[in-house]
Amino acid sequence: MTRDNGDMIVRVKSTETGTCCKSCGKTITKVHSLNKTLLLNHLPTFGNPVYIELQPIRFQCFDCESHPTTTQKLSWYQIEGKCTELYAKYIINLLVNNTITDVVEQENISYKRVESIIKKFS
Ligand SMILES: [Zn+2]
Repeated sequence: MTRDNGDMIVRVKSTETGTCCKSCGKTITKVHSLNKTLLLNHLPTFGNPVYIELQPIRFQCFDCESHPTTTQKLSWYQIEGKCTELYAKYIINLLVNNTITDVVEQENISYKRVESIIKKFS
């Protein structure tokens, strides 16, 4: 899907069928609900921003007494930086020759997000 302004949005579905219960650590596979859609920055293509849209799955544990739910978190993206790991690496590379302010302006993402990406890498 392409927006009028040239942004590309790619919708992906989680292919993993379970996650670890945050309370007991067991693998749980019973789907409870879908979480709010995440919009993650991904590597730009031909200079246009690319976003990945994903609805994380929330699973429920029936071994724990309170039947807690745990949201699946996949390894290829960061919650704090709202971006894919590839995008995070791209930002780190940009920071070799640019200041954070330059990167914020060029990429149109918040200072806080750039900081959280740096934190993940240090
Ligand atoms: Zn549990």
